Amino acid sequence: MYGGLKRLTALVLGAVLLVVSALQYGEGSTAYAAEPVVVVIDPGHGGENLGTDYLPIPEKVYTMQVALYMKQELEQYQNVAVYLTHEQDVDMKLEERAEFAKSVNADFLFSLHFNMSISHALYGSEVWIPSTGTLYSQGYSAGNEFLTQFEQMGLFNRGIKTRIGSKGTDYYGIIKHCSLRGIPGIIVEHCHVDHINDVANIQSQEKLKEFGVRDATAVARYFGLVKKDGSADYSSYAPLAVPVPEGRVYDDTTAPLYLEAKLLDYNSTSRYATVELESLDKESPLQYYAFSTDNGLTWSMLQPWDKGQNKMTVTVNIGYGKKDSLLFKVMNLYDIATNSNLLELD
Ligand SMILES: [Zn+2]
Repeated sequence: MYGGLKRLTALVLGAVLLVVSALQYGEGSTAYAAEPVVVVIDPGHGGENLGTDYLPIPEKVYTMQVALYMKQELEQYQNVAVYLTHEQDVDMKLEERAEFAKSVNADFLFSLHFNMSISHALYGSEVWIPSTGTLYSQGYSAGNEFLTQFEQMGLFNRGIKTRIGSKGTDYYGIIKHCSLRGIPGIIVEHCHVDHINDVANIQSQEKLKEFGVRDATAVARYFGLVKKDGSADYSSYAPLAVPVPEGRVYDDTTAPLYLEAKLLDYNSTSRYATVELESLDKESPLQYYAFSTDNGLTWSMLQPWDKGQNKMTVTVNIGYGKKDSLLFKVMNLYDIATNSNLLELD
């Protein structure tokens, strides 16, 4: 009897210890989380909706290929359930995509896209996120992981942005419909298909696969996932902590306040001009600059503005022919430009 009670006590104690150690181990460890993370990948466009069709192959083909690579890679991780909003080449309403995400109890929806600009001058990657509350914070933090991955491919980081429509809510339908269902949904614009800096990134299966793998890695880092074969473990990685904003985070709809250009040096033989540029935008970061030798009729390729700086010194080669003036422009995060004063060259 005594012996039996002792054994029972030991068993109970042992069981308690097991539970306690499991709890301790489980804390912060996705490996022991009961519920898998549910990720919905949304290949942008489909069916009649081609997306960007600047190239012979429309955007919907690239988004589907990258989505499939992303799913394949993400499924190498433990504790994650991965869905695509559609696997066939079909037209699907944005609201249906969000509704699908809700039906599978999604923790996040990632809408994959490729970009082009009307001017064909923009290049780089960007992420569009919800404009309010924890959805904003989650979107920003995950977006940061994607852009970090793309920067490692050599792509220019065009930032994480919100966009508000005329009704005062999120402009992009997929973001709006996900937000209405309490799901963080973001748009990942991998690169610009119409720019020489970016286009090589979509012109081989290797590159498309790299996008898919990097998209999956971004998600794995964000959620702290661990690979089944142990080759990657992000369980102790902390993604960017983004404070929950009060109210809506608005986009910048106005140009930089000014751009002042000061000619420091001009060599009429080598055709190099060194210019100090100073600009200010209180609402969003400065992103690119460019110069013109025909008073703004044509512009040089956009160049990265020094991140976080108001002032930068640039040296430009103005080329040959009759060039007697130099004009600069600066663009903010939302690609809104301000021109400088006109510099006279002798
Ligand atoms: Zn698109």
